[in-house]
Amino acid sequence: KPAAGFEGVKRFSYEDIGGLKDELQRLRETIELPLRHPELFQKLGIEPPKGVLLYGPPGTGKTLIAKAVASESGAHFISIAGPEVISKYYGESEQRLREVFEEARENSPSIIFIDELDSIAPRREEVTGEVERRVVAQLLTMMDGLEERGQVVVIGATNRVDAIDAALRRPGRFDREIEIGVPGEPDRIEILKIHTRGMPLAEDVSLNVLAQQTHGFVGADLAALAREAAIRALRRYLPDLDLDKAEIEQETLDKLKVFAADFRS
Ligand code: ATP
Repeated sequence: KPAAGFEGVKRFSYEDIGGLKDELQRLRETIELPLRHPELFQKLGIEPPKGVLLYGPPGTGKTLIAKAVASESGAHFISIAGPEVISKYYGESEQRLREVFEEARENSPSIIFIDELDSIAPRREEVTGEVERRVVAQLLTMMDGLEERGQVVVIGATNRVDAIDAALRRPGRFDREIEIGVPGEPDRIEILKIHTRGMPLAEDVSLNVLAQQTHGFVGADLAALAREAAIRALRRYLPDLDLDKAEIEQETLDKLKVFAADFRS
C-alpha cells in the first residue's frame, strides 16, 4: 500500500524549487488561495477548482511542486501513482480510489496527487481494458462529488496531456492545466544552486558555466549530477582521510555532465 498522508513524507518548501516561478505562482493561486481563503470564493460566488493537471517531461519537478504547495499551505498530502491503483481484482481499484478520497475528506484541507494519471485515465479510444474504463468512471464520480469547496483538490501529473481522457478535462474536473517544461539556463543555475547547497565546492567551480553546458538537463538530471559529484569527492577523501580533498571540483562535474547526458538518452 502506498504511503498516504503527510507523516514520514519529506517536507518541501518553495525554496527547494529551482525556476518554475510563473508555474508555481499559478498553482498557488489555483490551490493555496482557495485552501486558505474559502470565504473569498464564497463571497465572489465562484467555485474553486477541483482538479489541476501538471504536464511535461519526466523529472521536471511536477511531484516536487505539488508537495511544496501542500507543505506550505498546511494541507494533508496523499500521493498515489496511476499504475498502482489498477488492480486485476474486480472492484478493488474503485475501492482504492474511494478510500483515497475518503482519507482526503477526513483530513481536509487535502491535496490528492495522482502521478501518471494517463495510465488510469487514458483517452477512451486508447483504452483496451475494462478496469481502466471503470477506474475513469469512478474518478469522475469522486471528483463530481467533491463538495468541499476547494478543501480537497486533485493534482494529476502526466507526461502527455493529450493522452488524458477528454471527459476528465471538462469544467469542474481537471480544468486547469499547467505546463512544467524543461528548464532553461537561468532555471538550471537555480536548480544547481539548490542541489549543491551545503556542498563544499572547490574554488574553480562555476555553476553558471555548468548551467550553460547542460542544455536539455531536467531537474532530476541536475540533482543526480550533484549527488554523484559528492560521491566522487567522498572517494577522494577516503584513501588518506584528508577532509580537504572532500571537495567538489569542476573537473569532476565536467566528466559527470557528459555521463549524465548519455545516461538520459
Ligand atoms: P515524473 O514525471 O518522473 O514523476 P516529476 O516531474 O514529478 O517526474 P520530480 O519527481 O518532481 O519530477 O523530480 C525528481 C527530483 O528532481 C526532485 O525530487 C528534485 O530533487 C529534482 N528536481 C526536479 N525538478 C526540480 C526543480 N525545478 N528544482 C529543484 N529540483 C528539481
